[in-house]
Amino acid sequence: MRRYFFALTLIAYAGAALALTQAEVMAGAERMYREQMRELQARHQLDADPAFHQRVQRVVKPLIAQAVHDYPESAGWQWEVHTTPEDDDNAYAMAGGKLLVSRAYVHKLQLTDAELAMLLAHEIAHAVLRHNLLEYEEAMRLEPAWRGRPFAELEDAVDNDSALMRKLAPLGMQQEAEADREGLKLAWRVGWSAPMLARYFHKLARASHAPNFEQFAHPAPSQRWKAAQELAAMLEAAGR
Ligand SMILES: [Zn+2]
Repeated sequence: MRRYFFALTLIAYAGAALALTQAEVMAGAERMYREQMRELQARHQLDADPAFHQRVQRVVKPLIAQAVHDYPESAGWQWEVHTTPEDDDNAYAMAGGKLLVSRAYVHKLQLTDAELAMLLAHEIAHAVLRHNLLEYEEAMRLEPAWRGRPFAELEDAVDNDSALMRKLAPLGMQQEAEADREGLKLAWRVGWSAPMLARYFHKLARASHAPNFEQFAHPAPSQRWKAAQELAAMLEAAGR
């Protein structure tokens, strides 16, 4: 009887998120990314503007080269950067270096190449700092029941379960601030001027309807602009 119960427990735990690895998180990200790219492709919205796509590739390539140099783990990743004319997502990076950038967003904010570099470097920073894995681990710490459930359910919950998302918001805030900081430093190491990178946050604050309002898991744009200016001044003073 006892043995029988044990066997059942083993079956129940198969595919569960007992202890998550970066490899599993990357496999999940790969699946979700592929699905979204297929869906954009079907609607002729994938890399649909060659000029914008080339602009993004030109700016992102040196940033990825720098990231691979600074975070050796990411040298083995299949980095991918796609673009779309649509504005459903501004820009994102999934685990393992899978990026998507929206032309509508970049054009709406009228980003210069330096400001586009800041946006891309912020996303790259999320990936190389393993922010997805850390978020899933935090979710399992906050709600231990996730350890016994399929990882795919947790993937869905961090984006759709509002109660869990609320609990994860403090970590999300920290991760955003860290991606701003490490992203700015990464793009600066590539050779961009730090004050010109920081201007991205000025445009963000200017475009925001409530620049002092803190979103769910994002620091207020005005606060991000202030932090970026301070960091830029520090980098300028330190020199390359
Ligand atoms: Zn972010």
